[in-house]
Parts: sequence; structure tokens; C-alpha cells
Amino acid sequence: MRRAYNSVLKLPQLISCTQCGAPSLPHRVCPSCGCYGGKQVINIEAVA
Ligand SMILES: [Zn+2]
Repeated sequence: MRRAYNSVLKLPQLISCTQCGAPSLPHRVCPSCGCYGGKQVINIEAVA
């Protein structure tokens, strides 16, 4: 009976960032542009 629960945990759902279109986790800050909910919440500086 625990199998169903395992399958849920297996696949992380990815969403497309509304700003840059990069795949990111829902309810998380986009790792590539630092946006969340249409706003830039962290400053990502371009590093080389
Ligand atoms: Zn982004």
C-alpha cells in the first residue's frame, strides 16, 4: 500500500519559468534567472 506514495515522490514536477522559460520547480525561485511569481526575487549575476 505504500507503492502509490513512492510513485508520487519519484517524479519532480517541473514548470517553465515565466521569465526565462527554463525548467524549474514550482513554488521555487527559478535557478537560472532568480524569478518567482513573475518577480525577480534574487539577484543572479552572470558569471562567465
Ligand atoms: Zn527563470
